[in-house]
Amino acid sequence: MKYYILFGPPGAGKGTQAKFMVEKFHLHHVSTGDLLRKEIAAKTPLGIQAQQLIEGGNLVPDEVVAGMIENLFASDRTSAGFLLDGFPRTIRQAEMLDEMLAKRGEEVTKVVSLMIEDSLIFKRIANRAQIEGRADDADPAVIQNRIDTYHQKTEPLIAYYKKAGKYCEIDGNQTIEAVAESISAAM
Ligand code: ADP
Repeated sequence: MKYYILFGPPGAGKGTQAKFMVEKFHLHHVSTGDLLRKEIAAKTPLGIQAQQLIEGGNLVPDEVVAGMIENLFASDRTSAGFLLDGFPRTIRQAEMLDEMLAKRGEEVTKVVSLMIEDSLIFKRIANRAQIEGRADDADPAVIQNRIDTYHQKTEPLIAYYKKAGKYCEIDGNQTIEAVAESISAAM
């Protein structure tokens, strides 16, 4: 199975591009953000634990998201592969992903990284707040914390995957169609 990672800061356009990628390459889209929002809506114990962290712009514990991912891998053996969107977000998560795939004799296929500048992140998230009404998009201080968290905890993954020879970077500051084309070519 293929295991693609769609990587990038909040607001880079991962969700938008994921829709194109899953259709074109017959992948199972796994967005940890969407999965967590479902848990919150259903008021499950996991959702209740995650809600405060997410609404403060902080990450949910590594073991929690890794557990959700491992369950999904076990439940779908029919797609051509998975498109991971929002996971991994820390070095520890990347290590756990490598471990769970190694157990199956598999590995990450490629990391497609959408890059945009911090100033653009702000504009895009403010715009999305009008459309989707996500609680973590509404407050500038929370958006800033998500950007800071990205730089501190998630950005080190770039070096991790470069070292593994799996990293490929795309300019996210192009039209939606142009980004989609660049991603297709990279995949
Ligand atoms: P964004 O558009 O900010 O990338 P997501 O929808 O991917 O948003 O995620 C929303 C929030 O869910 C994150 O800010 C974080 O609190 C939590 N979350 C999502 N994925 C993870 C993960 N892999 N590890 C920890 N927390 C996560």
